[in-house]
Amino acid sequence: MIDTLLSFWRPLLEICFIWFLFFYLIRFFQGTRAMQVLMGLVMLAVVFNIAKILGLDTINWVLTKLFAVGVVAFLIIFQPELRRGLARIGQNTLLSSYLKKGGTVDELIQACEYLARHKIGALIAIERDIGLKNYIESGMTIDAKVGQELLITLFSPNTPTHDGGVIIVGERIASCGSLFPLSQNSDTFRFLGTRHRAAVGLTEENDAVCVVVSEETGNISVAVHGKLTKNLDSTGLKKVLMNLFRPPHSKLSAREFIEKNWKNLREKHLS
Ligand code: ATP
Ligand code: MG
Repeated sequence: MIDTLLSFWRPLLEICFIWFLFFYLIRFFQGTRAMQVLMGLVMLAVVFNIAKILGLDTINWVLTKLFAVGVVAFLIIFQPELRRGLARIGQNTLLSSYLKKGGTVDELIQACEYLARHKIGALIAIERDIGLKNYIESGMTIDAKVGQELLITLFSPNTPTHDGGVIIVGERIASCGSLFPLSQNSDTFRFLGTRHRAAVGLTEENDAVCVVVSEETGNISVAVHGKLTKNLDSTGLKKVLMNLFRPPHSKLSAREFIEKNWKNLREKHLS
């Protein structure tokens, strides 16, 4: 009886498992440069099997060696993508709900409003899945609760802390005066100053969110995934931040949200 049940369920279980495995593997790499290489590896595996069936020993030997090296190279070259994907799988929404309940976003928005009103330049990066340890260490480490007064003080002109960027990790300010990589994108390079280029540059390299307040214009902008949404008012800023640190039941991921909305937002606020 059990044997009959198992013989029926076993293939079904196996099919479901493999289906899920492939589904998550494709989702894992979707939109990253690793996807094309993964497809290349799949092609290699197909050719390998055909060569095996046809008994083409030399091709088989070459492909076996190539495959072994390819897998190791894949792991080394795409270590950032793998790390990001694994972090996303293990990600829980505790941080996002804390940000909402604890008012970190509100403190940040109020600080930005003040800084914008008084035309005080600011650059604030918020860590997400990928750690910003290197950048934290490039500045002065702080470890204090996020508060508007502290943020305003850190960016006040004529203080030793006002240059460079502040990094927020969870509900704590981790550092100030941190140096971010400047974007080398020639399109952005032409029109932006170094503060905005640093925000774009940092978010090109990882999944952090960067808020910039312009000293020249008092405008607030947000950079995510190397894209800059300019001229946000406090409502716009709140909307963007709340959606980036999405509520647990929201279907849209931060990346999907910004890709869907950044064009609209930019057009709306530039018009
Ligand atoms: P604003 O609109 O405020 O003038 P901007 O984009 O025109 O900004 P700059 O005027 O060049 O940029 O701003 C210079 C300031 O940007 C510096 O004083 C420093 O605080 C900050 N900054 C410049 N480069 C970096 C960097 N690599 N990392 C972090 N902050 C930086
Ligand atoms: Mg400037």
